[in-house]
Amino acid sequence: MKVVKFGGSSLASGEQLKKVFHIVSEDPQRKIVVVSAPGKRNPEDSKVTDLLIACAKRQLAGSSAESLLEEVVERYALIADELGLEEDVIEEIRNNFLSLLHAGQEEPKRYIDALKAGGEDNNAKLVAAYFESRGIEAEYADPKEAGLIVTDESGFTRVLPESYQRLYALREKTGIVVFPGFFGYTENGEVLTFSRSGSDITGSILANGTKADLYENFTDVDAVYAVNPQVVPQPKAIRELTYREMRELSYAGFSVFHDEALIPAFRAGIPVQIKNTNNPDAQGTRIVNKRDNTNGPVIGIASDTGFCSIYISKYLMNRELGFGRRLLHILEDNGVSYEHIPSGIDDVTLILRQCQMDEMAELEITRRITEELQADEVIVEHDLALIMVVGEGMRHNVGTTARASRALAEAKINIEMINQGSSEVSMMFAVKGEAEEKAVQALYHEFF
Ligand code: ASP
Repeated sequence: MKVVKFGGSSLASGEQLKKVFHIVSEDPQRKIVVVSAPGKRNPEDSKVTDLLIACAKRQLAGSSAESLLEEVVERYALIADELGLEEDVIEEIRNNFLSLLHAGQEEPKRYIDALKAGGEDNNAKLVAAYFESRGIEAEYADPKEAGLIVTDESGFTRVLPESYQRLYALREKTGIVVFPGFFGYTENGEVLTFSRSGSDITGSILANGTKADLYENFTDVDAVYAVNPQVVPQPKAIRELTYREMRELSYAGFSVFHDEALIPAFRAGIPVQIKNTNNPDAQGTRIVNKRDNTNGPVIGIASDTGFCSIYISKYLMNRELGFGRRLLHILEDNGVSYEHIPSGIDDVTLILRQCQMDEMAELEITRRITEELQADEVIVEHDLALIMVVGEGMRHNVGTTARASRALAEAKINIEMINQGSSEVSMMFAVKGEAEEKAVQALYHEFF
């Protein structure tokens, strides 16, 4: 049995839905279908989720978003029309969106989540109706009834482990189950969404819960590539990679598959197959537990911008009991989480996502580090890019770091920081944001 997830671009128009129908109906093992909200039809188009967020914000600001909401309903209506579905499908969708729009706004974050979730929820109903109209038995599954229970964290909720057992019952359904991605319910019955692009996570949770043999993730590219094709034209396609490799690559900017979506499938040992809705015969990329290391040391290179670093030095830091704890406490008090902490004898660097720390928070954090921790030096650097060189083979190959740093040196790129110790499958370089592309290109040419 397979769980199959379709992303927004695979569901953006009636024409796309026909492809989805063909893919699902040609393989009887494709039993559970997870859907995103309709995505972009072309590069200038808007995603339904973005329109819904705009609607929610407009209402919260005290204006009416009814006309913008009508644009959303129109997106569904166009799809339904192309597929020849009955009028009442759209009436139901319109009424559902209107009731979400006019729901209580006492808790703004929850209000936004509920409206966002409506994008996938209504799409699942539409897809189920379409499948039925084509003569296959298909049923919309309500995540609340199915038992997808999540933590109480608006906008970036996480699955609670008890969900898995409850979701197993979906296997018993006779027809195809169409399940909305991106959200679950708290124990108190409130709708909360995962982080953006979170339908991948739903698919992975369902694959785990129903003990599927395979989780197929349909998107709009033929494969996961060794590097972003916008940075290096026609890069090498990756046929097989491990969960750990994919996790590192997704973390650092590969957007094909959500980095949080790997864990549920990994825990249940279910392989993930990335495929293209627009070219389903293409082999795609398989994510597995173990692979043969035939690729050389490196499988892919990813990069992401928007990081900053706080460098702290203090003589005899290594001897000072509780320095790290007090430092992290200061971050915690300011609601800031860190990404990496490379350290030396008398110094430590915190790497953070810049968007978490506005000017005020930065001043407060540096002031407290200087005063409370009596640091000798505190230096904040902005606009850093992190580059991840990833590959299971690195462990067994001598000289990979040397090759990477030489490639960067030859391209005249200054390395702000290297972090290799902790992860066995990646090497991380921080460089100035403006050097990101050049650095990625240099590394790609070195290893591929
Ligand atoms: N529609 C949601 C988003 O745009 C979730 C998803 O597509 O996976 O983030």
